[in-house]
Amino acid sequence: MDYVSTRGMAVPLDFEGVTLAGLAADGGLYVPREWPRFTEAEIAALTGLPYARLAARIMLPFVGDSLSEARLLDMCETAYGRFTHAAVTPLVQLDKRNWLLELFHGPTLAFKDVALQLLGLLFEEFLTRCDENLTIVGATSGDTGSAAIDAVAGRERVDIFMLHPKGRVSDVQRRQMTTVKAPNVYNIAIEGSFDDAQRHVKRMFADEGLTGRFRMGAVNSINWARLMAQVVYYFAAALQLGAPHRKVAFSVPTGNFGDVFAGYVAAQMGLPIERLVVATNVNDILHRALSQGDYSAGEVTPTAAPSMDIQVSSNFERLLFDCSGRDGAAVAAQMRGFDDTRAMRLTDGQREGMAGLFTSARTDPDEMALAMRWAWEECGQAIDPHTAIGLHAARRIELAGGVPLVTLATAHPAKFHDPVERATGFRPNLPDRVGDLFQREEACAELSGDYDAIAAYVAERAAPAA
Ligand SMILES: *Cc1c(COP(=O)(O)O)cnc(C)c1O
Repeated sequence: MDYVSTRGMAVPLDFEGVTLAGLAADGGLYVPREWPRFTEAEIAALTGLPYARLAARIMLPFVGDSLSEARLLDMCETAYGRFTHAAVTPLVQLDKRNWLLELFHGPTLAFKDVALQLLGLLFEEFLTRCDENLTIVGATSGDTGSAAIDAVAGRERVDIFMLHPKGRVSDVQRRQMTTVKAPNVYNIAIEGSFDDAQRHVKRMFADEGLTGRFRMGAVNSINWARLMAQVVYYFAAALQLGAPHRKVAFSVPTGNFGDVFAGYVAAQMGLPIERLVVATNVNDILHRALSQGDYSAGEVTPTAAPSMDIQVSSNFERLLFDCSGRDGAAVAAQMRGFDDTRAMRLTDGQREGMAGLFTSARTDPDEMALAMRWAWEECGQAIDPHTAIGLHAARRIELAGGVPLVTLATAHPAKFHDPVERATGFRPNLPDRVGDLFQREEACAELSGDYDAIAAYVAERAAPAA
């Protein structure tokens, strides 16, 4: 399998290459040249596999010659062995139609662990193979940072520089990053929003002063391997609910469009997905894009669901590419226009291509609180604010009778205990696996929003490319 850029100009790479790459050199994102497809019989044969085995089967076509099946399985067993639930991503039924897919049983309590635990192992494997050092720069609205740091802390050949918007992540999220003591981990709090942090990171990938000296890698969902690992739990959930003989719908709390894009990939691979609900909070650029064709960035409004406080969703470009006849030049022109004006109109063709599978809904803070209260009072489930946004969208959407609707539970409620307690009166406890988080010392650099200072901070500390 090789991978092409959504902007059509970068050289294609194999799986090892895209795993170690950040953005493509032309500013685009890598996608597989074509979607591997399973027949109905092949999907049926996946029923009942343990999670790690299922993961290896789903991912093998994407990995191509970069890993043997045995090595891939071995890595999946290591990565998913760190999850505290035997099912890795268990399903919980809420009512006749609604289910929760709990993705938060990993080390840092959010779904990001599912992909990043594996990505940490992939980095190690491929860097050892080519005797190389990797400088990871990332921006986080909270959960990617902690999951990525947990996945690479203490690993040789990797330095990680994680930018988060100062004061805009929860105390649990911040401490999960800043209390990790490892010589290869650098936390940077910057003035501004997540989008500002993400802009700095994108600029670093294009900065020849850095790319000439360091091998720059990404842990954000621009990294293809992350999306690939997330495809697996769509299969896991749908198989349990009767796929391939029954259709299943998903509601996905969405920020950077990575998680829901993985659902789109599952559908391209043959999984019978009836609908993907893109659930946004009041930072609703994706809802406006999907419902009105208007992809225009506004100001970010901070909410109790910070991982969705995003106006520019990187992975949307991957969907645009697929819904534009995979015409990289057209996507490049459209994205250049967006970069100049922070706004673009989707073409009719793009809108039609998306409408076949995607629906969207926007949830305001009151509705989010109501969804937390409903889950707690009617179903006995404490859910986090992000999950609540997905559940609110799920409860409003109409579907053909009998189609089960799975809301992705993207974070553990204890990770956001304050808003959960405000909505329900119940304060969820942190699970034992996070240990004495509030007793540990924090370490974090504070930098202004000045790009040059951030780039210099990285350049002074990272290990140069071999
Ligand atoms: C990252 C995150 C999201 C958004 O996922 P995307 O892949 O960026 O769309 C939603 N909920 C939680 C808890 C997250 O950490």
